[in-house]
Amino acid sequence: MSSVRRFAPDEQGDYRWSEVERLRYKDEGSAPFKDITRQVLFAQADQGCELRYFEVAPGGYSTLERHEHTHAVMILRGHGTVRLGSASQPVAERDLVTIDPLTWHQFHAADDCALGFLCLVSKTRDKPQLPSDADLAALRGV
Ligand code: MN
Repeated sequence: MSSVRRFAPDEQGDYRWSEVERLRYKDEGSAPFKDITRQVLFAQADQGCELRYFEVAPGGYSTLERHEHTHAVMILRGHGTVRLGSASQPVAERDLVTIDPLTWHQFHAADDCALGFLCLVSKTRDKPQLPSDADLAALRGV
């Protein structure tokens, strides 16, 4: 149904939209992460993609993971870093991040502000893989 849903930040200034539920990022204990939430902004029946909004609280981070599907990301709020493979780089509002298939990736919010980003994914997608100890050693360059 055609609609307009209003941007409606909460009392802390965290990004919310009317009629959009704030969800758990992942199930607790399923993977390492800290202080991150998920909102599904668009998941239309006739489109093969979903647009989600993730918000990482100051000092928080997403799971270090990789998968076959691509992420197309726009930073919407704050700043922090993104790991792409073995290198991390700073990201800030309105930067665009493309994460290719099977690239290890992780978002970190800066300590002094939240990091919010839009993430476009295919509706049908594989489950994320977590790094083995050998993968972690390789990423650290050991
Ligand atoms: Mn991912």
